[in-house]
Amino acid sequence: MLDKFSLAGKVAMVTGCNTGLGQGMALGLAAAGCDIAGVSRRAARETSAKVHALGRRFVAIEADLATAPVQPLVTEAVGALGRIDILVNNAGIIRRDDALDFSEKDWDEVMDLNLKALFFLSQAVARQFIAQGSGGKIINVASMLSFQGGIRVPSYTASKSGVLGLTRLLANEWAPYGINVNGIAPGYMATNNTQALREDAERNEEILGRIPAGRWGTPEDLQGPVIFLASKASDYVNGYTLAVDGGWLAR
Ligand code: NAP
Repeated sequence: MLDKFSLAGKVAMVTGCNTGLGQGMALGLAAAGCDIAGVSRRAARETSAKVHALGRRFVAIEADLATAPVQPLVTEAVGALGRIDILVNNAGIIRRDDALDFSEKDWDEVMDLNLKALFFLSQAVARQFIAQGSGGKIINVASMLSFQGGIRVPSYTASKSGVLGLTRLLANEWAPYGINVNGIAPGYMATNNTQALREDAERNEEILGRIPAGRWGTPEDLQGPVIFLASKASDYVNGYTLAVDGGWLAR
């Protein structure tokens, strides 16, 4: 049975893999057998060293996904590793301000990365899956704010709600090609992205007080779910966004 979870011989492209959740997922996928094409704005030296230590290949593709054309990233990954079987759209940013004061810049920067780059990279990789004739797995990183409204993060909520909808649409369109498109919605995870929240004693206490698990999540908490969604074990799961949130949404 566990063979269905093996990713031996697979190639995964992971965006934003130099730190945080992207690094955690890249290491989980490598431990399950994947070679990794890591797309990062900054050099992913630590992730590269850790993937190599697991005995897998790591190719670093440096790009600003908010502005870079995406096709060359796919061409580079395939040139280096031969194919792509899995795409994890993880790179994402957040901007905080009151909706009354929120700037167009903070709107555009978040939407360009969290939603537009995710769509066009998925499109380029899906074309590669179809050319390979092999099907494939796309895993989009959503958020609690794919389900809830949040506060003071209007472009983030719009982008992550959009990620949930796009995940469904792409699953509908690409299922005939053997492509699964699913999402992972992390709860409140201890990374750079949430440093400001954790440093605000009042917000930190409020958040911890409503997480049934009683702790912030970690990048390791996403490893089992991403391996599942990247593997044959989830072949009949499509268009679904799985919350990995210590029970937050159940509350
Ligand atoms: P993080 O530590 O800040 O990591 C974000 C990653 O995205 C970094 O690798 C970053 O690279 C990359 N990135 C940012 N802008 C980029 C750009 N223009 N081009 C290419 N890469 C870029 O945050 P994280 O918490 O791990 O976030 C990862 C994903 O999880 C995001 O989509 C986030 O929205 C989502 N998420 C996080 C939480 C949470 O609680 N932490 C909860 C729900 C969802 P640089 O280091 O070079 O900037």
